[in-house]
Amino acid sequence: MGSAVLGEAISSIRDWSVTEAKEPRGPRATEAFGSLVFNDEVQQTRLPKPIYHALRRTMSHGQQLDGSVADAVASAMKEWAVEHGATHYTHWFQPLTGITAEKHDSFLSPTGDGRAVAEFSGKELVRGEPDASSFPSGGMRSTFEARGYTAWDPTSPPWLLKSGNSTTLVIPTAFVSWTGEALDKKTPLLRSMEALSWQAIRILRLFGSTAERVITTCGPEQEYFLIDRYFYLSRPDLINAGRTLFGAKPPKGQELEDQYFGAIPDRVMAFMSDVENELYKVGVPVKTRHNEVAPSQYEIAPVFENANVATDHQMMMMETLKRTAPKYGLACLLHEKPFAGVNGSGKHVNWSMSDDEGNNLLGPGANPHDNMQFLVFCTAVIRAVNKWQGLLRASIASAGNDHRLGANEAPPAILSIFLGDMLTDIFEQIEKGGAKSSKHGGELDTGVLVLPKLPRDAGDRNRTSPFAFTGNKFEFRAVSSNQSIGYPNIALNVAVTESLDYMATELEKATRAGKKLEAAVAELLPKVIKENKRIIFNGNNYSREWEIEAGRRGLQNLKNTVDALPQLVTKDVIAAFAKYKILNARELHARYEVMLETYNKTVNVEGQLMVLMANRYILPAAFNYQTSVAQSVTAVKSAGGRSVEGKKTLDALTKLTDELKRRTDKLAGALDHEGNGSAEKHAKHFRDTIVPAMAALRETGDALELMIPHEIWPLATYREMLFIK
Ligand code: ADP
Ligand code: MG
Repeated sequence: MGSAVLGEAISSIRDWSVTEAKEPRGPRATEAFGSLVFNDEVQQTRLPKPIYHALRRTMSHGQQLDGSVADAVASAMKEWAVEHGATHYTHWFQPLTGITAEKHDSFLSPTGDGRAVAEFSGKELVRGEPDASSFPSGGMRSTFEARGYTAWDPTSPPWLLKSGNSTTLVIPTAFVSWTGEALDKKTPLLRSMEALSWQAIRILRLFGSTAERVITTCGPEQEYFLIDRYFYLSRPDLINAGRTLFGAKPPKGQELEDQYFGAIPDRVMAFMSDVENELYKVGVPVKTRHNEVAPSQYEIAPVFENANVATDHQMMMMETLKRTAPKYGLACLLHEKPFAGVNGSGKHVNWSMSDDEGNNLLGPGANPHDNMQFLVFCTAVIRAVNKWQGLLRASIASAGNDHRLGANEAPPAILSIFLGDMLTDIFEQIEKGGAKSSKHGGELDTGVLVLPKLPRDAGDRNRTSPFAFTGNKFEFRAVSSNQSIGYPNIALNVAVTESLDYMATELEKATRAGKKLEAAVAELLPKVIKENKRIIFNGNNYSREWEIEAGRRGLQNLKNTVDALPQLVTKDVIAAFAKYKILNARELHARYEVMLETYNKTVNVEGQLMVLMANRYILPAAFNYQTSVAQSVTAVKSAGGRSVEGKKTLDALTKLTDELKRRTDKLAGALDHEGNGSAEKHAKHFRDTIVPAMAALRETGDALELMIPHEIWPLATYREMLFIK
């Protein structure tokens, strides 16, 4: 683009150097780690012993915190926070839309004699009352009490947020209505972890385990784009929609494959290490960083943790990425598809279950007994994904993810499981009635169910599967870069809970009837595998053949958000959520409605933005160029010549310009839609009319971009945004 913006971006990039990083590297990572967290170590040193133990019990067993304990904890927490410069505290929560919400209150309390003290009571720690009326509730509050309150989640430790010149004590909370209905994403996540624990323990008991609780573990890998901030600020679509709505494909895209794992540019490296430092301080265990496949695309991943804490930490990670980028003259794009024609961004949610003795339940064991247990849990997950495909698909549905799923670069909208050849081989043998031998050899004799020794690292690599077994965990790869990992975690937990319940019930029945556990397992697994093996697919998920084959297998192919969301409120899903006390029908419907509304609002904003950009950016540039070409043709003519190519250019330009205007008006007209107050009708209209109208308008806009001179093209181009760094 010819305007000042390009010049600004280029000089900012030229003038930038690592030494300009605003903050020098902090202390060593190991020292910094957790220094701003009210963690176990701080609790131990600052809390009286009985209080400390009461708090720990609450954390590990989900017990209620009583009033006097809460007061003592609050007081210690405040002392610690104030010593670190905190002036305010906030109950931090995860409403149904948006990422997180916070309202800050000061510790300051006037004493009446013109002075003030810092105060923070147990009541203020345990319960907050944000003005909840403007958070979406999917209609839940319209018939009930309008207020909601936030409640401290003691299983996720408070931390200090340093931003601007101020320090705030951040208390992770759940957000519920006065009637006890969940208004957030954390409450059902905690409930689903609890439910899964119950069912998993039933199975562990059969195997003679003494574990008391099972937690789900999660390690989310985050992809993102970084572009120069001047470019970002010059594009109304990036500012308001998070993605480019116009933009012609550059001559060089990602086809040279020279980006993945390539050298990280200095400025980006400085940004990454600053982000990592900030995250270390608040206890987020970030571990991995690298270039991703698309130009200017990167990834950051932490070490896995308890899924509830991991979900909070994931939010903090996204916020830190966005907040840190401007310090380096950059903008961080978390949208699923900021640029058409190059890869979009996902979030790989690595998921497993672990008992409170530290055993990973999806890790193949060292002996046949452990392996049998592993196979039971693994089979439960296979059954869960097959049975609850629709729910899992709906948990990752959004307008943004519609650009990725099935778009030949990301896992398809069809859910399937990649098991790898070795494990598939083992499951095939079990299905045939107990494994007799394995392709890869190993131990055989375990009594009734003859199992091969499982390889320690049974997961091969497959980049196209939406749900892959990777050796000791599953990786849900269809999750989108921009979303909270709350819903996918909840969906997985509910699905696996139901599956574990089923398997535990069958195994208990058989053993009660006098069968040996080995025999019961040997009978159950082949049956479950036979019924659910259609979900297993180890081939290329991007291929057209798979889509056809999946159709033959009867797998669901829910191509877009509008198709997928109703899966959240099917009879079976409602029954399962109710049975395990995760969400009642109203709470579930509320989430469906909010997700649908969010889809509608997102597409509406994008449509309006396209109309604005076409009318106020592209069309004026097109007219402008049209005039100068027309003048040139006339000038040639009056000089006695004939500009054949000039006339052709003028005709082509005129045709595209007229088409741009027509398509803009058509989109604008279609956006004027009432839908009779039905969100469903509205959503279908957006999907069937608006989205195609936007695609058509974009096609014309992008064709004009390739004709109009660089100096007068009003938007930063892909070539500039993705390659000038
Ligand atoms: P990659 O998938 O890039 O090969 P890894 O397999 O090492 O990388 O790990 C990816 C993510 O999976 C990391 O966040 C890691 O901590 C996480 N992970 C590893 N084990 C588990 C587990 N048992 N439960 C949940 N996440 C796990
Ligand atoms: Mg991975």
